[in-house]
Amino acid sequence: SEVIRLENIWKIYRVGDVETKALRGVTLTVNRGDLVAIMGPSGSGKSTLLNMLGLLDKPTSGKIFIEGRDVTALSSNEVADVRNRKIGFVFQQFNLVNRLTVLENIELPLIPRGIPRAIRVRRVVEALRMAGGDESWLPKRPNQLSGGQQQRVAIARAIVGEPEIILADEPTGNLDRASAKLVMETFIKLNNAGLTTIIVTHDPEIANCTRKILLLRDGVIKSVEDPNPEKCIL
Ligand code: ADP
Ligand code: ADP
Repeated sequence: SEVIRLENIWKIYRVGDVETKALRGVTLTVNRGDLVAIMGPSGSGKSTLLNMLGLLDKPTSGKIFIEGRDVTALSSNEVADVRNRKIGFVFQQFNLVNRLTVLENIELPLIPRGIPRAIRVRRVVEALRMAGGDESWLPKRPNQLSGGQQQRVAIARAIVGEPEIILADEPTGNLDRASAKLVMETFIKLNNAGLTTIIVTHDPEIANCTRKILLLRDGVIKSVEDPNPEKCIL
């Protein structure tokens, strides 16, 4: 079944007199349980596309449907609510808060939901285990962990709210090969558990672990390629 659908999405940035057509009519359906890579040269619109899929920014025109519901018709509060319930984000720079512990970082998405502390902690432990992390990390600060460990904490934070979709922007871009492999193993495991997963990456060894590669060029999907599993990092 369909989780996200983009219909003829255009995104035009205007800075002063300068216009950039970052997306030029993208149409795309992502089904439940998909594992998709988005590739393309720098400036081709990958981040902009991820921002559209993640409801982080509004398209200039076109429609976005989440589970069949037209979110471009919703107020920004309603959009934020859909985003918080349905979508988990993972970034290249981890985006963890260093003055908070690992436990506090992972439980952040649960705080606005008014979930009692004991239940939050139980869910944090569960999410960290799913993300391939270790309970001994919970009282530490993120910067006491390696990059690969921090990314697994970030994945735990992304899944603790039990989203439908995980969107990852260059999740292995700052990691060595061994850590990249662990992180990709984690995404595969989560996807096998049913989580729809979309990964923007420059790394063919990551893209080849997915089931579909979208090649972006000059703001359009230029082609859809079959991954070569023999060239997956795992
Ligand atoms: P990619 O992620 O593939 O590198 P982006 O989506 O970041 O591509 O950018 C696509 C194009 O849109 C580029 O020309 C970029 O400079 C431009 N762009 C992206 N974000 C903005 C913005 N907030 N304001 C103005 N131009 C932007
Ligand atoms: P990536 O490394 O994923 O390709 P970019 O470096 O293209 O990301 O962009 C990082 C962020 O900066 C994005 O959120 C994008 O929207 C914004 N951005 C990119 N190009 C521009 C630009 N020309 N003007 C303003 N913001 C931009």
